[in-house]
Formats: sequence, structure tokens, C-alpha cells
Amino acid sequence: LLTAPTDHILFSNRSQIHSSLKHHEKALMDAEMACRLMPLWSKGHVCKAQALVSFGRIEEALREYLICLSIEPDCRLAKTEAHKLLSEILAPVTDQVPGPISDHSNILSSRAHIKSSLTSPVQTLSPGFWSSESPLSVPEVSKRSQEISETMKIHDCLLLKRKRRNTEEEQGTKGRQKKSKSEPVHESESLSSVSTDLMDPTDLECSLCMRLFYEPVTTPCGHTFCLQCLERCLDHNPKCPLCKEELSEYLVQRQCCKTEIMKKLISKYLPSEFMERQRVHLEEMAELSNLNKNVPIFVCTMAFPTVPCPLHIFEPCYRLMIRRCMETGTNCFGMCLEDCLKGFADYGCLLEIRDVRFFSDGRSVVDTIGGRRFKVIQHRERDGYNTADIEYVEDVKVDGDAECELQSLHDAVYEQALVWVNSLKVEQRQRIEGHFGPMPEKDSELQASPNGPSWCWWLLAVLPLEGRAQLPFLALTSLKDRLSGIRKVLLFMAQSKHR
Ligand SMILES: [Zn+2]
Ligand SMILES: [Zn+2]
Repeated sequence: LLTAPTDHILFSNRSQIHSSLKHHEKALMDAEMACRLMPLWSKGHVCKAQALVSFGRIEEALREYLICLSIEPDCRLAKTEAHKLLSEILAPVTDQVPGPISDHSNILSSRAHIKSSLTSPVQTLSPGFWSSESPLSVPEVSKRSQEISETMKIHDCLLLKRKRRNTEEEQGTKGRQKKSKSEPVHESESLSSVSTDLMDPTDLECSLCMRLFYEPVTTPCGHTFCLQCLERCLDHNPKCPLCKEELSEYLVQRQCCKTEIMKKLISKYLPSEFMERQRVHLEEMAELSNLNKNVPIFVCTMAFPTVPCPLHIFEPCYRLMIRRCMETGTNCFGMCLEDCLKGFADYGCLLEIRDVRFFSDGRSVVDTIGGRRFKVIQHRERDGYNTADIEYVEDVKVDGDAECELQSLHDAVYEQALVWVNSLKVEQRQRIEGHFGPMPEKDSELQASPNGPSWCWWLLAVLPLEGRAQLPFLALTSLKDRLSGIRKVLLFMAQSKHR
């Protein structure tokens, strides 16, 4: 070695000797030296890969084999070893999906692409590039492998595009030498210059909405969609829209692997398309969060201000509706009683989502509480669910003598209500309190809320009244009228009890 200190073959041979003597550290050092001395010598990379494998540094070893293949595409050893390492890395994914990523040959045969990784190793298998923000709590290994499989898919996609371009060129200008094949790839060529050339917005299109990916997510089966598009599909069928892989478990967890690398690729290489896509998204969100126009309406039951209303959601249209309410951040939708003529009643109550629990079949239980009352101005529809333009209904305040009268009426009806509640059987009362909570106390300030005292709404919810009989109370803007109405119902209840 003293006589030929820069001979890469010597270092490579000595590395193999070290390795057979199980001097792994020395073997790796020599292999690294061989690669440094002759970066485009494939055997050096094979040597280094073998040394790395002995340390269990699988991804780095894979990278070396890929580099080797980029230099010598027909190297059989590198091919088999790379396949072996890939399936090792992807094992957690392939366990779930029988044979999803079978076509490694695309990746392995792209000379130019792997070459580019030589000069910018950060873009290939460096962990930093995949700083996933996904909330997944799955073991690190399977997360990594998913990320790797994502990367592979992007590579696939880019390569396909490249191939397509080549064929187009071939057909278009016969005889002319094809740039991508004939031109030697310079070591200085960076990924960005390669990819900008290859990148086409249609490569990064969601197969469901045919638009540029927005908040792309990748399913366990390795398919990527916009988060919202995928969720809408899963509302109807808990299977991957592309490969029909069962995604029920994925639905329960509601945690999807946000495809950070895809996001980064899009914002880096398609900045203007990304900006436009984002603008459209924000516009949609703004429109969806309007609580006066086109407000989502759940047509189901009576809801009252301040009264809890747990809901069981199973229809696809309402799954979408609830999700949108949460995505926009309003967490609100209107609840209206069904009306056989108009579709839904003219008055309703906003419900605010407090909690959602999802089940594996896509059903969910949504815990809500009543908010403002509203009058329906215009019936509309959006993506299969009802919407409405609405106007909010508020109590008209009174003062002076009218206020004093109101206070005494209020106190009297409250006492009557207490008598009725206390007359209930223990089990009955427990059932009511389990569902709606205990009867609220009197409000300290009678007219403070635009909906009046909450105990009135609680009572209306628990009194054995039909929806049709409850509905007019929502429309009343006079607390006095509401109290008088309640008193009538209580009187009727008391009378029918004595009969
Ligand atoms: Zn989409
Ligand atoms: Zn799939």
C-alpha cells in the first residue's frame, strides 16, 4: 500500500479480507476509501454496501447498491442485494398488502436518476428529508418504510413520465439522438435540475379530484390522495379507491400519514400551481364556514339552545358534512326537524360539535350542544346534504313594568317545572338526567341571553311533547310567550296525571 497509496483496488481487496476475518470496522473504512478514490467504480460501492450490511445499516447499504446499479445497470449481485434490502425495509408495509410495490426495476434501471443522487445524497435516503409531521404512533420502522415506499412511488412516477417523454420524442423526431439517453450525466448535475425537467403538474394529480394534491396522504397500501378526497371515498366504502385494500382500521385511527415529501415536492417544483391550489382551497373553506349562507343542515330531530344533543352519524352525506364543519373550524351546523312538504322545518337550532368518536365501519357518534336559533330563509343543497340561508332568532327584551311581570311569571313557571320534575319516577328522572343533564338553575340575569333562560329549553326537550309541538317554541321571540306556553303544557300534564 505504501507503494500505491491511491490504488482503489488495493483498498477494496483489503476490505474484503478484513470482512472475511470479521474485522467489520476496518472493512468499512477500506471500502469507503476505495469509493472515495474512485467514486464511479461500481465494485467499491458493492464492497461498501456489504460492509454496511454487517453493521445493520440497511438503508445506507441499499443506497450503495443503487449507486452501483447506476454505474453498472446490469450488475446482478447489486440487483439481487438491493431487492433483498428493499423488501427488508418495506417488510411492515408488504405484510399488510400483498405485493404492492413489485416493480422495483423501474427504480433500479434509471441510471440518470440514481446518478443524480450521487451528487445530492440528501435527496435520496437521508432521514432529514422526510421530516414527517404525521401524528402516527406506529413503530418508527414501519413509518420509515412507508416514507421510503412513498419516495419510491414518486420516483416511479417521475420515471414513467420520463419514459413517456422519451417515446414521444422517439415518435416525433426519428433519428435525432435522445438527449436523456445519449448525454452523459455530469457529476455536477443536481436533483433539482433533473426534476424540474421531469416534473409535470399532472404527475402530482389526485386520481380522485384530478387536481394537484392538496394535503396529500398515503394509505397503508401506498396510494396517495388529497386527504379530503380520500375521506369522501371512505364515507361510501372503507376501501382504497384504487386497489380496494380494506381500510377499516385506518378509519378508526383517523390518523393518516401526511405525505410530507409530496408536499415538499409540490411546493418546491410547482410553486405557482401550489399557490393556485391553495387559493382555491381557502376559498372553499371560507365558503363552507359561512354561518349565514348555505349553512349545512342536519335534518333529524329537534334541538334546543344550551341542550346537549348526541348524534349517531352513518349516512355518507352527513359524514362529509360533520367533517367539513370540523375542517373549517366553525364546528357548527344547523339541526332541523323533517317536514314532509318542504324537506325540513322553517326553524331550527345551531349545534356545536364538542366531541366526535369514530368507529371502524365509518359510523361516528357526535356529541353536540345547542346554540343559536334560526329561521330558514332559503333551502339549498350541497354534495348530497341540505343547506340553508338562515337568519338568527333572538328574544326581544322588555323593561319597566313588563320586566317585573316577566320576572314573576318566570319564577312561578320555574316552580311549576320543579314540581313536575320532582313528580317523575326515579328511573325516569335518571334517564332524563343521563341524557340531558340535571335541570339548569335559574339564570341570574333573566334577559341576559338572546335565547332566554336555559332551563326553559331543557324542560322543552324533556317534556313528552312531539317535535311538531316543540317547534313553535323555537320561533318565539318573546320570553313571556315561551313561559306561558310552557305553563300550559305543565298544566295539561298535571291534569292528565290526575285523571
Ligand atoms: Zn383530490
Ligand atoms: Zn390502495
